[in-house]
Amino acid sequence: MNKFKILFVGIWLFLWGCATQTQQVQFSKSQSITQTQEVLSPALTDPKVKEVGFDIDDTVLFSSPAFERGFASGNPYGSDEFWAIVNSSDKGVSKIKQKTRKIIEEHLKRGHKVYFITARRDVEGEKLKEFLSRELGIPKQNIFFAPHGKTQLIKQLGIDAFYGDSDSDMRYAIEAGAMPIRILRSPKSSYKRSYNPGSFDEFIIPDSEE
Ligand SMILES: [Mg+2]
Repeated sequence: MNKFKILFVGIWLFLWGCATQTQQVQFSKSQSITQTQEVLSPALTDPKVKEVGFDIDDTVLFSSPAFERGFASGNPYGSDEFWAIVNSSDKGVSKIKQKTRKIIEEHLKRGHKVYFITARRDVEGEKLKEFLSRELGIPKQNIFFAPHGKTQLIKQLGIDAFYGDSDSDMRYAIEAGAMPIRILRSPKSSYKRSYNPGSFDEFIIPDSEE
C-alpha cells in the first residue's frame, strides 16, 4: 500500500514539475517577445490618435538636393522661380526617409488619416504632391502648403499628433494641441537652423536621420 502511495505522489510531483516548467518557458518567451518588439512611435500605440500630420522637408523627404538646385539656379530664395525649381526637382533627386516611411505605413495600416504640411510655397506644387502621393499612397488633397505657419491647419484638420524635424514644427504642434514628435534631421541636410531635439520634452524617434 505504501509503495502505491509513494508511486502516486512521485507521479503527481513529476507531472506538477512538468506543468510548472512549461509555464515558466511560456512566460519567458512572451517576455522576450515584448522586449524585442520595436516601438516605432507613441502615436501608433495611443488609441486616441486617429489623424496624424507630417512636415515634409527633412521629415518625410531628404530634400537638400532639390533645394541645392534652387540655389544653384541663381534665383533668390523664396521667389516664384526658386520654388518652381525646388518643387519640380524632388521627383529626380529627393529621397523618402526610411524610418518615416515605416511609420507612415503603420499609420495607414491602422486606418489613420495622414496629412503632409510643408512651409514651402505652392509654385508648381502639384509636382511635389504627385511625387509624394505616388511614393507613399497619400491622397493629393491631404497635402498642404502653409508658408505662414502650420498651427491653424493642424487645428482645423483635427490632427492628433504632428511629426517634424524643426523646433518650429514642435511649437506648431503644441500650439495646436497635438502631440509633438521629433524626426531626426540627416547630418547631411543643408538646413541647420531651428534644431534642438528634446527641447520641447517631445518624443524623439530613434534612428530617424536617414
Ligand atoms: Mg522640416
